[in-house]
Amino acid sequence: MNKVDHIGIAVSSLEAALLLYAGQLGMTHIKTETVASQKVRVAFIDAGNVKLELLEPAAPDSPIARFIQKRGPGIHHIAFNVKDIETRIAEMKSRGIEMIQEEPAAGAGGAKIAFMHPKSTGSVLMELCEKGEGEA
Ligand code: ZN
Repeated sequence: MNKVDHIGIAVSSLEAALLLYAGQLGMTHIKTETVASQKVRVAFIDAGNVKLELLEPAAPDSPIARFIQKRGPGIHHIAFNVKDIETRIAEMKSRGIEMIQEEPAAGAGGAKIAFMHPKSTGSVLMELCEKGEGEA
């Protein structure tokens, strides 16, 4: 893990969240896309040295919908940038970390992602994120 790639924030409405982050807070909205594998609509915000990933449920059975139901909107996960995610997953497992995804899933921007189980990581949901080709 060489740096924090982004912080995931669960929101009920991307439109309302963009009014806050891009409008009132004056940050740059990079792009919005739908990530089918995670059933979310995602907007990336440039927060300087890190990105914010605003996550809106795209389906009632989205993990983000369940998170908002249980805990309300707010900080959802921290994503660390890695290279060679398959090796990192194996390394985490060998150190006793339970993975939610043992195989990388497709994330936003063609990234390969895998979440660690919060029961292994002090109740903080953490994501390993390997950038897609050509992504910053
Ligand atoms: Zn993420």
